[in-house]
Amino acid sequence: MSMSLQFHAFAGNPLRPKLPISHDPFSPSAALEALNARILDTTLSSSLSPSFKVLPFRNGKPLASSSTAGSGGSPPIWHLGWIELEDFRGMLGNTGAQLSGESMVYLGLSAEDDAVLWAIDVSAKAPEFGGELELGFVELRTLMVATDWEDLKATGDLAIAGHAKALLEWHNASRFCGHCGEKTVPVEAGRRKKCSNDSCKKRIYPRLDPVVIMLVIDRENDLVLLGKRPKHVYQLWSCLSGFTEPGESLEEAVRRETWEETGIEVGEVVYHSSQPWPVGPSSIPYQLMVGFFAYAKSLEITVDKNELEDAKWYSREDVRKALASAKYKKAQRTAAAKVEQMCKGVDNNNRSLATDFNVESGEDAPIYVPGPYAIAHHLISSWAFSDQM
Ligand SMILES: [Zn+2]
Repeated sequence: MSMSLQFHAFAGNPLRPKLPISHDPFSPSAALEALNARILDTTLSSSLSPSFKVLPFRNGKPLASSSTAGSGGSPPIWHLGWIELEDFRGMLGNTGAQLSGESMVYLGLSAEDDAVLWAIDVSAKAPEFGGELELGFVELRTLMVATDWEDLKATGDLAIAGHAKALLEWHNASRFCGHCGEKTVPVEAGRRKKCSNDSCKKRIYPRLDPVVIMLVIDRENDLVLLGKRPKHVYQLWSCLSGFTEPGESLEEAVRRETWEETGIEVGEVVYHSSQPWPVGPSSIPYQLMVGFFAYAKSLEITVDKNELEDAKWYSREDVRKALASAKYKKAQRTAAAKVEQMCKGVDNNNRSLATDFNVESGEDAPIYVPGPYAIAHHLISSWAFSDQM
């Protein structure tokens, strides 16, 4: 990983999901009971410890706010739009509704402000926020690009939002039991589910899809293999990647995917690092990217055109040039300004994601590689500068 980054985007979640049982007065289920008690009994002081904070999501987008960071022309900083207990009561509208964990999921304990944190999916009823508070629902990908990687609070917030999005999406996708087809119900404050059919009772756990991502290296000629996906943004070259298949080790998946996509034979496979990736396509919303260096045994490329538009060997110099000319900081500023506008209610929906990524492209660079929010960036840059360490 690069020197400025302690962990990948979406990793490094600062919340404690659970304490050891001997220290834990607030298991997820006990926390849900306590939250319900405080929602129903408005005479209970809101200053009771711990406090409760809720992060609303609409259609997979977390509520966010934005603030301008003093003078000096520094870009705005985004924050998660936590709702305090009192506003949350108002949001539920005095229905006296008990929360079941169906709409709410427990995220964990924040030691920093002695709070139990929750996420709620408000896509169905979509209460309005805004006005003076200047809050808006913002795509997680936009927040990802807008994150300043030296700001530990921001990277922590991004990890919390990614975790919450993954859990809420898992809830939406697991409403029925895969064994008997009955409805599922949440348990442990939304961290698990089980089948409501008494003769089945199947337990259902949040799942993720492991994806191998590999930088294929030709040791002898000091080259790396980069691929370009069809329909990807202009001149974006990256590592090869692919899903693991049942009955296959991660190393085998690296060798098989590289062989299938490019005809290159891989020998030694070395683990680098891994990254939670909750911003994949809607069909595979929550992936775990597992990164490797893969050492090539053969060099002749035969591209599978169904998977890749092209694949080529690049020298260390090519790759360093691509890294040096990319405008990652500029992309971050542009995205941060976009978040600010969205929180102010300025409609920016006509700007596509590709526009966000395009501003990274150095005008005279023949290729460019993904930004520091992606594990591919760190695989590529740690190889590019490995001779200087
Ligand atoms: Zn069942």
